[in-house]
Amino acid sequence: MEQHPLDKTKKIIAKKNSFQFKCHPGVSCFLACCSNVDLLLYPYDILRLKITLGLHSADFLNQYVRVCEGSHPYFPGLKLRLLETYGNPCPFLGKKGCGVYADRPSACRTYPLERAVERKGNSTLLSSVYFLTQHPWCHGHNEINSYTLDKWEREQDLHEWNLQNEHWAEIDAFFASNPWSGEGKAGPMQQLAFMVCYNIDAFRQYTRTHCLLDGYVLTKLERRKIETDDSLLLVFGYKWLETILGGRNRLIAK
Ligand code: SF4
Ligand code: SF4
Repeated sequence: MEQHPLDKTKKIIAKKNSFQFKCHPGVSCFLACCSNVDLLLYPYDILRLKITLGLHSADFLNQYVRVCEGSHPYFPGLKLRLLETYGNPCPFLGKKGCGVYADRPSACRTYPLERAVERKGNSTLLSSVYFLTQHPWCHGHNEINSYTLDKWEREQDLHEWNLQNEHWAEIDAFFASNPWSGEGKAGPMQQLAFMVCYNIDAFRQYTRTHCLLDGYVLTKLERRKIETDDSLLLVFGYKWLETILGGRNRLIAK
């Protein structure tokens, strides 16, 4: 999924359109797309993968991720580190298919579509659009089966990933404004932001050590959910970063 800006070179699929596609173990290219792949990982992808693999997020980063250029110069992105064996397969590819299927990253579950989000003018709402990619090696486009966007989103269980990726697109757009007060790349504040976005277990420990949740107005229920649910802690972390880095006041200090 591309976050922004909109890529106008691919075919847009509108809500009312349908597209022809089916991926299943019978296609001649089955699993071909799981090797030698350039796969961006977003914060929620990392969160889901580290949970399903039973790893601390720091260990997941060390083992499976490499740092790359982000969508702008002011914050790095992360890509999946492929195995260095023949064909450079994805480390989660098993003999029968994807070994992390229920928690596979956004790009895998969205393919052959890509989703972009943008904010129009001063609107508070994000709008999204899907593009259809047509790579020559993917034979799923020749299968007689059609999807609407609604059916595709339901079948791929995209709702939660889309929602989380929209939160990420918002904070990444804020990072693009270079809010690091002249500290430059990898300065202390950017390292803090890197931890919040990509290393959720370290951020959880940070919130405890610094009694972070005590400093903001939260209902008992909100606090309990943040304390127990990594995805809600991630969203709290985005709000906290924007608040302390001089963006919108997303949290009320006590
Ligand atoms: S290349 Fe296309 S059809 Fe083949 S396995 Fe990948 S997504 Fe499915
Ligand atoms: S995570 Fe799963 S679907 Fe995605 S590239 Fe790896 S094996 Fe394929």
